[in-house]
Amino acid sequence: MPGINTRAVHGGEATDPNTGASAPNLVMSTTFAMQEPAGFSIHAFETASEGDKPYVYTRWGNPTVNMLEKKLAALEEAEDCVAFASGMAATTALLSTALKPGDHLLMSDVNYAGTAEYARATLPRWGVATTAVDSSDLSQIEAAIQPATRMIWIETPANPILRLTDIAAVANIAKQHGLLLAVDSTFATPIATRPLHLGADFVVHSLTKYIGGHGDALGGAVLGSTERLEPLRTQALVHVGGVLSPFNAWLIARGAATLPIRMQAHERGAKQVATFLQNHPAVGRVNYPGLTSHPQHALAERQMANYSGMLSFQAPNGSARARRMAKELEVIHFAVSLGHHRSLMYWIDTDAIVESTFKLAGKQLAGYREFAGDGVFRLSVGLEDAEDLCRDLDRVLSG
Ligand SMILES: *Cc1c(COP(=O)(O)O)cnc(C)c1O
Repeated sequence: MPGINTRAVHGGEATDPNTGASAPNLVMSTTFAMQEPAGFSIHAFETASEGDKPYVYTRWGNPTVNMLEKKLAALEEAEDCVAFASGMAATTALLSTALKPGDHLLMSDVNYAGTAEYARATLPRWGVATTAVDSSDLSQIEAAIQPATRMIWIETPANPILRLTDIAAVANIAKQHGLLLAVDSTFATPIATRPLHLGADFVVHSLTKYIGGHGDALGGAVLGSTERLEPLRTQALVHVGGVLSPFNAWLIARGAATLPIRMQAHERGAKQVATFLQNHPAVGRVNYPGLTSHPQHALAERQMANYSGMLSFQAPNGSARARRMAKELEVIHFAVSLGHHRSLMYWIDTDAIVESTFKLAGKQLAGYREFAGDGVFRLSVGLEDAEDLCRDLDRVLSG
């Protein structure tokens, strides 16, 4: 198999046989002229055709979107990949096809807000119960497994506290109990971690973040075996219809081509900024898996070949300081999202997020507060000069 840099550049791509074009074509066509009739339903089409399937309609499949899917599969070393219109479209496609009424979902108690809110507010309406546990504590996972449990969903590193979950250990538990394991690996990217090699059944990415990398295209993907992904393609993609635009696929593929080198630069910058923050008198705890002070640094060393560019930190008077930062930061954008070449920072108040989203109490709340205190500044370290980022931070942290 070619190396990761070669796979990022060439994966899924081929020169155009008609023109010799070196860059991939952007095929915006929604429909495709067919050589012969092939039915009017994805199912009729599947039984009618053999071998390489012709393109029919872009909701069923599109050459540019397929090119991106193949590139992502090459990066993640996955058999197959299905792309969606956003990370949330990918997440909900997986949950809604893997689970049915009466099933129970076990998930980490800290994860992307949209995922946590969907699991708590929407899944119960479809008859799926959810239990959220601190997945960094394997005993909490074991204790929460019920006869109806069907899937374990984890996110590592977890948004916004950068707490890690041991994927191989959770995969072991999942196997013992015959459960599916899904890993949201958006913060790690395939450059850091390959959850499928560690025993996961599914990997989910928001392509909007590092993989696209430039803050100009929403997208999402689920990766795994062709067999496991089949219902995602036919039911969730073709019938629910949250397909990725070919234009976004083209932009994301261009971003993905430089993912390995960007992740090296993100990590280098984040290490510098994390060290600067750790030594800053106005800063409390800094959460970055690449710092030896991270309580799970040993797991990070084992599980992450790259520590990525995400960190969070505490500073006194967080919410007032956040208001000041929004006005006074000059290089870093005070904005949600992450993984872009531009540095992005946002304030996540503990009481507010626990109330609206995580609903933590007791030991789980204490576990969250250990990382987050009253709130954290989540910083996505971009590709600017780290010295400029540190200067920008120093100005808004001092005084
Ligand atoms: C952003 C994000 C998502 C959702 O992705 P969208 O592309 O915004 O829909 C899911 N999980 C994680 C970890 C994310 O950061």
